[in-house]
Amino acid sequence: MRKKLHILTTSLTILLGIAVLFFMKDYADSIVPLQNIETEVIHADTLIQDKEEAFGISLEDFHKVSATIKKNEFLANILLPHGVDYVTIDRIAKDSKDIFDVRKMAAGKNYHIFKKKDSAESVAYFIYQINPIDYVVFDLRDSVEIYKDAKEVIQKTETISGSIQSSLYESLQKANASPALAVEMADIFAWSIDFYRIQKGDSYKVVYTVNYVEDQAIGIDQILAVEFNHFKTPYYGLYFKQGDNEDYFDLDATSLRKAFLKSPLKFSRLSSRYTLRRFHPVQKRWKAHLGTDYAAPRGTPIMSTGDGVVIAASYTSGNGKYVKIKHNSVYSTQYLHMSRRNVKNGQHVKQGDIIGYVGSTGLATGPHVCYRFWKNGKQVDPYKQKFPSANPVKEEYLGEFEKKKGEYLKMLEAIGSENKIIAQNPS
Ligand SMILES: [Zn+2]
Repeated sequence: MRKKLHILTTSLTILLGIAVLFFMKDYADSIVPLQNIETEVIHADTLIQDKEEAFGISLEDFHKVSATIKKNEFLANILLPHGVDYVTIDRIAKDSKDIFDVRKMAAGKNYHIFKKKDSAESVAYFIYQINPIDYVVFDLRDSVEIYKDAKEVIQKTETISGSIQSSLYESLQKANASPALAVEMADIFAWSIDFYRIQKGDSYKVVYTVNYVEDQAIGIDQILAVEFNHFKTPYYGLYFKQGDNEDYFDLDATSLRKAFLKSPLKFSRLSSRYTLRRFHPVQKRWKAHLGTDYAAPRGTPIMSTGDGVVIAASYTSGNGKYVKIKHNSVYSTQYLHMSRRNVKNGQHVKQGDIIGYVGSTGLATGPHVCYRFWKNGKQVDPYKQKFPSANPVKEEYLGEFEKKKGEYLKMLEAIGSENKIIAQNPS
């Protein structure tokens, strides 16, 4: 049975592509990128069920015809050949508006027609699948009835292990495992491992949950535990939820993350937030503003919001004098329109270090710092990021954490060093 994880999105591929290019540009071949692990996969535990019903409709009474919508296929040319008349089709289109706009039916999506098992073989149901989970039912039996429903999503725990030959991404792909795991791992260990510099001989074991709909994997749900051996040192990331806060912790219950400062200025006024659309005060036109502006008097010290290395201390006509800091393989921050820079390219900085002073160089109407937050090479809104507190597990949750830790370590140990994926019991 095919168990391809369908989480491989275009953006992910592009992101990893960029990551690889970035690596090739920045490092010599002495270091192995986030790629290529020779992995062999064994899939166990395939559930086979006799399907007696589909979409909650008994197949005893109906024939089911399933197909994929082709280009230029619409409700009318799908249903007409099955004997549904124009009046009914028109009725469906009108009646469904509040529930589902039939004009949104798209090529490539699946549909299912249930026909009565009598001589007339009239259409009883038409079902449009919005995605692997959600679908719309058009019940055409008596008066037309339309409703949305969703299939049950079951989470299964799976495991994978591998050792790095040349890249994580490629090997996970080869193993039919989701490359999303590589991105997740890089995120979990963002502050402890530079995934652009992982070594040949590094290895990993991961316990994670996968979402299944009717035995078909539809995507990674969550990494539960990961052991990454880097330069022969094991790093652990254990998922734990305390109250409403979820985070990854080390064996000693400390958070794997370090928090960023909320703002690069001690006292400031937030004057413009990250938005995909704002009226530019200098250029006098609507455009995206991918930074967060803090207005402050000229000369106000600007602090680095996290530990890192200065990767640019430079000038452009738009940015003015600016500084960019790489915090780890995932996050970078950038500070624009400085009156003066206080750091040099290549310099290591600590959180809170003064890296420059507020000014209005470049395209700026008044003194402010435009703070830009980069995640995986893309500018994001720092206030929309899920940064769990970098605090250790709270005392009242320590008992629970230790218990979970014991379970996770046992699971990691059970994986062994051979590369495999084992579907375990639903959790
Ligand atoms: Zn700005």
